Amino acid sequence: MSKKILVPVDISEPELAQQVIPHVEGYAKQDDATIHFLAVIPDYTYFSAYGLGYTSIAPDAGEREAAAMGSLSEIIMKFSLPEDRVEKHVLSGTPKDHILQLAEDIDADVIILASHRPSMSTYLLGSNAAAVVRHAKCSVLVVR
Ligand code: ADP
Repeated sequence: MSKKILVPVDISEPELAQQVIPHVEGYAKQDDATIHFLAVIPDYTYFSAYGLGYTSIAPDAGEREAAAMGSLSEIIMKFSLPEDRVEKHVLSGTPKDHILQLAEDIDADVIILASHRPSMSTYLLGSNAAAVVRHAKCSVLVVR
């Protein structure tokens, strides 16, 4: 069976994804791997963007997921990968939970992620990255 690579992407930080490009491309060449990209829309995004009192104007989940899929596709275009081996996933909820669950569902061989946002440089590992490293049942490549 060919390898499966899971690449979680924070679409609000596109430059973070840049860091993982050479690593993902390198792994993808092995065994005709399939690359699964995942963007999770955190539940709090629209609450914090509009303030709690204005949640009624937040777009519904379907609209948000369609917009997120567009942003994810734009980020994926920067990767040199065979299109027929790329899968895209957009889910709403808690990033670390969805990353770990999808890794199990697709039986991922490796998860590749960037360690943290540059602005959070006091932490060597962001909270989602830390949870994934700690709880994933497969190998995890943390790119710094
Ligand atoms: P920070 O707290 O500095 O943002 P994180 O642990 O959240 O650090 O981010 C590290 C990595 O976790 C990101 O490079 C990305 O791979 C993954 N990640 C974070 N947020 C999301 C998200 N909303 N959807 C998918 N992956 C995410």
